Amino acid sequence: MSLSKIWLSSPHMGGNEQKYIAQAFEQNWIAPLGPNVTGFEDDLKKYLGEDVEVAALSSGTAALHLALILCGVQRGDEVLCQSLTFAASANPIAYLGATPVFIDSEEDTFNISPDFLEDAIKDRIQKGQKPKALIAVHLYGMPYKVEDIHAIARKYDIPVIEDSAEALGSTYNGQKCGTFGEFAVLSFNGNKIITTSGGGALVSKDPKMKEKAIFLATQARDAAPHYQHSQIGYNYRLSNISAGIGRGQMEVLDAHILKRREMNLFYKEIFASLDGVKVLNEPEKSYFCNHWLTVIKLDKEKIPFSTEELRLHLENWNIESRPLWKPMHMQPVFKEAPFYGNGVAEEAFLTGLCLPSGSNLTNEEKERIKEAVDNFLQEK
Ligand SMILES: *Cc1c(COP(=O)(O)O)cnc(C)c1O
Repeated sequence: MSLSKIWLSSPHMGGNEQKYIAQAFEQNWIAPLGPNVTGFEDDLKKYLGEDVEVAALSSGTAALHLALILCGVQRGDEVLCQSLTFAASANPIAYLGATPVFIDSEEDTFNISPDFLEDAIKDRIQKGQKPKALIAVHLYGMPYKVEDIHAIARKYDIPVIEDSAEALGSTYNGQKCGTFGEFAVLSFNGNKIITTSGGGALVSKDPKMKEKAIFLATQARDAAPHYQHSQIGYNYRLSNISAGIGRGQMEVLDAHILKRREMNLFYKEIFASLDGVKVLNEPEKSYFCNHWLTVIKLDKEKIPFSTEELRLHLENWNIESRPLWKPMHMQPVFKEAPFYGNGVAEEAFLTGLCLPSGSNLTNEEKERIKEAVDNFLQEK
């Protein structure tokens, strides 16, 4: 008998998504914009609290691109960026002809290191150019060191773009991720904590910024009866159909976060007896992680196997697992970019593994994961 595939993170519908899509069909509101877009934006705004404005867009990458434009980033500028992240955090810097300056991670959250961040800012200023913006990422849903990072950004007056693509529902000191930066970015791609089959959002505290983002996202059309343009625009708005899926997903978001957190506990139990396996967790009470993906890190001194051996073993059981994001400063495409760090991100990449964490995993599937891991550990 062949085993069905257990995915790292697969879409999990709540049930009402089709109701909102059906409404769009009934009203023939298939074109972009329309009631689902506004409804989805309102849902997100309410969920995030903190008096923010939300613009629903076609992807998280589009939201990052617009955030950089709204920060005034231009050709030749430098932008600070967490190195351990998905390429989508850094690519929009290159779209604008700007240079990413990559920063290493710290050990507690695997996110951007405050120490190297400040080193980098000082050094870039000394070399003659103050970075225009900072992209900090709540990786795998784990909040970065919000207080430290934002204190440094304030000290040097650098706007923070909070890449919250993986962190919808995570909080720091009770405040939702996605509400700390000048701008924040959400993603509703297929494997994220909620999905619109593809989509994203730009969050800002300034209603004027939302207006500008939507202007740019709809081809930057000036007010005139004909099509008049004084600047370059983009086609980045979310469609009314996709937003309908998003509205249904918002109804189940918190329930799905509970499930993801249960998955994290499940792995903690599985690996409890193994001294050399660390399940990444909140370092302090002030952190609340949505545990979009559960991450383990192996201590090479104590563990007689590599993450790659474990990954291949799970693959034989038709269970997907994946190394952490390969740091951007190690990527061929960014090999010329400056980097500040001492190897934490690189070590995380070499010794870390993401495990299946979906909110829709069944008890049978969890049993199979446990059996596969136990079987692997017995062989070692
Ligand atoms: C998914 C993701 C993005 C990009 O979002 P898309 O909607 O896929 O464009 C950006 N940053 C991080 C950290 C992500 O995981």
